[in-house]
Amino acid sequence: MTDPIDTLTADPAAEAGADAPRPAGLTCWRRSDSAGVVTLWLDCPGTGTNVISETVLRELDQLLGDLAGARALVIRSAKPSGFAAGADIDGFAGLDRDAALSLLNQGHAVLDRLAALEIPTVAVIHGHTLGGGLELALACDRRIGLDGVKAGFPEVQLGLHPGLGGTFRLTQRIDPIEAMQAMLTGKTIHDRKAKRLGLLDALVPARHVDAAIEAACTGQLPAAEDGLKAGALRLAPARSLAATRMRQEAEKTAPRRHYPAPYALIDLWHDHGGDPEAMQRAEIASFATLLESATAQALIRVFFLRRQLKAGAKGDSGITHVHVIGAGTMGAEIAAWAALRAKRVTLEDVALPPLGKAVSRAATLYERRHLSGIEARDALDRLMPDPEGLGRARADLVIEAAPERAALKEKIYAGLVDVLKPGAILASNTSSLRLTDLVDAAPDPARFAGLHFFNPVSRMPLIEVVAHEGLAPGVLDRLCAFAGELDRLPVRVREYPGFVVNRVLAPYMLEAMLMLDEGLDKARIDRAALAFGMPMGPVTLVDQVGLDICLDVARSLASGVAQPLPEPPAWLREKVAKGKTGKKAGKGLYDYARESPPETAGEADEDPAIIDRLILPMCNAGMECLRQGVVADADTLDAALIFGAGWAPFRGGPMHYARVRGDVPARLRALEQQLGRRFTPDAGWDSLG
Ligand code: NAD
Repeated sequence: MTDPIDTLTADPAAEAGADAPRPAGLTCWRRSDSAGVVTLWLDCPGTGTNVISETVLRELDQLLGDLAGARALVIRSAKPSGFAAGADIDGFAGLDRDAALSLLNQGHAVLDRLAALEIPTVAVIHGHTLGGGLELALACDRRIGLDGVKAGFPEVQLGLHPGLGGTFRLTQRIDPIEAMQAMLTGKTIHDRKAKRLGLLDALVPARHVDAAIEAACTGQLPAAEDGLKAGALRLAPARSLAATRMRQEAEKTAPRRHYPAPYALIDLWHDHGGDPEAMQRAEIASFATLLESATAQALIRVFFLRRQLKAGAKGDSGITHVHVIGAGTMGAEIAAWAALRAKRVTLEDVALPPLGKAVSRAATLYERRHLSGIEARDALDRLMPDPEGLGRARADLVIEAAPERAALKEKIYAGLVDVLKPGAILASNTSSLRLTDLVDAAPDPARFAGLHFFNPVSRMPLIEVVAHEGLAPGVLDRLCAFAGELDRLPVRVREYPGFVVNRVLAPYMLEAMLMLDEGLDKARIDRAALAFGMPMGPVTLVDQVGLDICLDVARSLASGVAQPLPEPPAWLREKVAKGKTGKKAGKGLYDYARESPPETAGEADEDPAIIDRLILPMCNAGMECLRQGVVADADTLDAALIFGAGWAPFRGGPMHYARVRGDVPARLRALEQQLGRRFTPDAGWDSLG
């Protein structure tokens, strides 16, 4: 699907590039010549997105050998949506260290050859220009960005750092602190910031690109300055100080024991920052080492899992107008996000204040997402507060996000009978009610399904698309396509208490409550989970989700599942009755006026006694979901937990973790004897042999 946001920033000249001939025998490049300027158009076959593969570089090498008589070289993309999305990750799969080294050395040789050309070289970049794509651009003398360009080095998210010269070229090109920040966080650098940092020598609207290219080709586009700081940081003592600070910062979000890449990158710069050639050699060796690490292998697997879920989101949903009922925490975000993703949205609520708040929250979201003024205005125009519910009759999809009370939801559905337009789908965002209990109240049960978004919608990419037995064919496909259009990842699940994510996550939270009941310190429990790699400790998570909502989920999982959850401690109910419902109330398990939950493990080591009690029941619940056919397979389950709950990605998800560990059923059996039946291994483990 063409991204509706990216089309706003597309390079209109890309189409012309796509008409340029491919030199004989080449598959990834096209070439056009005009008045001595050779333009090489990157155009990977059979895809809408370029990636930098071995073939791309090999062919580029060949093209660089055929520039006799050229007065300048321009490199740009023939794909309207962007320059290049990064390196070809498929090419990484199964590479051993020697093969990786050889591939990297070849790639570096090509970019060095480009960098050493005596004629002016210019990269014209637009849309996504990431990883290997940005490294290619950095090897040119000048970079011209088109408005809307999004550059960055996301390698760290794969447990790697840039490997095609990015580390030494970026730290040389711009302020090294900014360069390191960009590589350590993997964050996208948007157009104006890229210009300000000096990553771009010019930032122009598409209509001015020809003039900018001509200026660059004739030496009239000066290089951006790299600033005073860059010079000082080429000296070892200054780097040493900065590197120490970077390591401390990195520990907060990516502890060294789980994520080696940021530290390897900091070491590279610390040791070789003043010497590009040494840094280049060290980059190649370090990248090859990281590629073999368990973290990178698990994160590369996560990349493939994401792609697998995306592949399930193909097609055209036929949904252009969405009507959202309930403008609270979830409804407001769903509406804002859908409008951002080019849907026409009407938003209904019984009360007026939530509608006003929803619009201002949408404006804040658009600002945070770096939408231009025009894009934000257009998105806000598409988001229409609709207190009278006029959109119900016009919408292709109605999403109900009203409070979690069956009677209330049924009443809302009754109000939709004979109102929805033919073929419209009704979806509930319920987290804990049974779809089968609601379905009879739906105007057309065959067009009623679950569409379970996660909070906050803008940051949690997963949507559980929930089926029940009476669903009409095609409805689920349309909802999955809709999720894809929203740039979210759909996972198809069968109706089951808690669906898959909450079913697996609930024992994590409940076990923590039982530990508190035994007198364990809450911060110790949270730190142990953080040390394992969970994004949030279970006690903090209960506060975050809300104690009241956790009780709802616990209630829904007390029956109807193979391994019913035991009763939560009575004091949990008492807290809710007193209004201490968690973070939203300022008081829950933590008292937020007096204390903050731990955000990092700090010095805490993994605490196996706590970890096994928290983590293994999740693996067990995962096994139950697989045996009950709630999701298709273990990979899908892992993906759901990683993208829906942030489950320690470098461990590859609960089922991958169980597979790697190998002793989960035996350990569960031991816990069962010690602590009771909530640890009884699921029958599914037996089938693994
Ligand atoms: P909320 O209480 O924040 O918002 C509900 C909104 O619905 C309120 O603005 C309320 O005024 C409005 N409302 C009440 N009755 C209505 C009616 N008859 N017609 C129209 N609007 C009405 O609730 P929430 O947290 O957004 O949860 C909504 C749904 O999403 C629930 O089913 C919940 O289980 C589910 N959910 C919540 C989360 C979460 O983290 N909060 C996550 C996933 C799913």
